[in-house]
Amino acid sequence: MAIERTLSIIKPDATERNLTGKINALFEDSGLRIVAQRRIRLSREQAETFYEVHKERSFFGELVDYMISGPVVAQVLEGENAIAHHREIMGATNPANAEPGTVRKEFALNVQENSVHGSDSVETAAKEISFFFSDADIVG
Ligand code: ATP
Ligand code: MG
Repeated sequence: MAIERTLSIIKPDATERNLTGKINALFEDSGLRIVAQRRIRLSREQAETFYEVHKERSFFGELVDYMISGPVVAQVLEGENAIAHHREIMGATNPANAEPGTVRKEFALNVQENSVHGSDSVETAAKEISFFFSDADIVG
């Protein structure tokens, strides 16, 4: 299996509840390595650009409002098969459908305030990592 990098975001519902350490413990315990990290407050424009793929969805406006409602932690995670592996540890989008032991089962509040984001393909991972980080910011 290939060593990959993926973009992970700890979302405002989780930073608000002081859960960044507990969430990252699940990622690290599963073998993923944090190789870059920034705690930031997204502007409306940044959030709209980041979630542009969802702009036609009914929940887009609400999603953007939520993503700028508090700080987020953007990070690059590295490991074997990291993109799919990270999404497995995150759990299903709706916490009601997430497996026990996943981040969303343990911590998410609902389908929108679901604590974490993860890239979903090699292409989106590259695009999303470069949205937040330059090469020099990533130290493996
Ligand atoms: P993410 O892209 O954040 O990793 P995902 O890939 O599991 O999550 P997407 O379908 O890409 O889910 O949706 C992006 C985000 O939009 C979700 O994580 C969630 O915060 C929000 N969202 C998705 N579906 C809904 C919905 N039906 N109602 C409200 N918000 C939603
Ligand atoms: Mg997604």
